[in-house]
Amino acid sequence: MKNPLLSVVIPAFNEEENICNTAAVVQEKMAAAQIPYELIFVSDGSRDATFDKVAELAKADARIRGLEFSRNFGKEAAIFAGLEAAKGGCAVVMDCDLQHPPRTIVEMYRLWEQGYEIVEGVKNSRGSESALRKWFAKGFYKILSALTGFDMENASDFKLLDSRVVRVLLDMPERKTFFRALSFWVGFKTAQVRYDVAKRAFGKTKWSFFGLFRYAVSNIISFSTKPLAAVNYIGGISVFAGLILGIQTLVRWANGKAVEGFTTVILLLLLLGGAILVGLGIIGTYLSAIYQETKGRPRYIVRQDTDKLQENDQ
Ligand code: UDP
Ligand code: MG
Repeated sequence: MKNPLLSVVIPAFNEEENICNTAAVVQEKMAAAQIPYELIFVSDGSRDATFDKVAELAKADARIRGLEFSRNFGKEAAIFAGLEAAKGGCAVVMDCDLQHPPRTIVEMYRLWEQGYEIVEGVKNSRGSESALRKWFAKGFYKILSALTGFDMENASDFKLLDSRVVRVLLDMPERKTFFRALSFWVGFKTAQVRYDVAKRAFGKTKWSFFGLFRYAVSNIISFSTKPLAAVNYIGGISVFAGLILGIQTLVRWANGKAVEGFTTVILLLLLLGGAILVGLGIIGTYLSAIYQETKGRPRYIVRQDTDKLQENDQ
């Protein structure tokens, strides 16, 4: 018999308006479906009362637990901290703003009961994002799908994992992770459920456009080395083009026609200079990723834990 407890991991960054409502809605759904559960809120270095709200709930209900980071470590770190704390036979990761509908959790859980080890939440639509963000997200997932070889187009962080899969993820030595893609990479018996992205319950998105861009780059870097190979291709193409141009120049020289066209020289300089700098930039980005990994620092630092608070109270 597997442990029927479902751990719901909820990363939360400045979500004070959402905590009570989200907890209540999820709890109601779990009670109605008769699923034993625990809620783990991971406050990602929130600067508002997020953790206080969780602590209040945790005091009244042993099924609720909260962790608070010492600073903002990012959603990935919050997800992993939640998974580390999860005691269930399976764990679901969901957003704090109810954009991931709780009724889908019930669907996921039923599939898990049938023996699936990973249940992926797949977006039907991207909800009410701005046109620019939609376009950006689409582009990012196109690139990512091409780089990873998995169809990530409508993938999300909303998924259920069996505790064995959670163990595998937690045992990975790398610090920089991309949760969304890792669950594809690990394999296991996988099912999918489709869901409609709901409107954010309260507050506004915690991602700035620039933040999202950095997130995209860091995820691509942490998951694929193909951009490095692209540097080779660019180099190869320039060598090839250089060869042809060189032969042409030599032939002209041999025929006594002096090289004309200063423009060509300038254009070539600009193009090659640009290509070299981009290439160096890509290599540098990987180098810094390697540097960060070798330092072996913890992925996150927990400053407060409601479980420990309660022990102190007693
Ligand atoms: N989040 C987090 N750390 C961050 C940014 C966001 O833990 O640095 C959480 C946030 O509280 C929410 C989830 O990640 O539960 C998704 O964030 P959000 O709803 O702002 O993103 P969107 O739905 O707009 O993509
Ligand atoms: Mg959201």
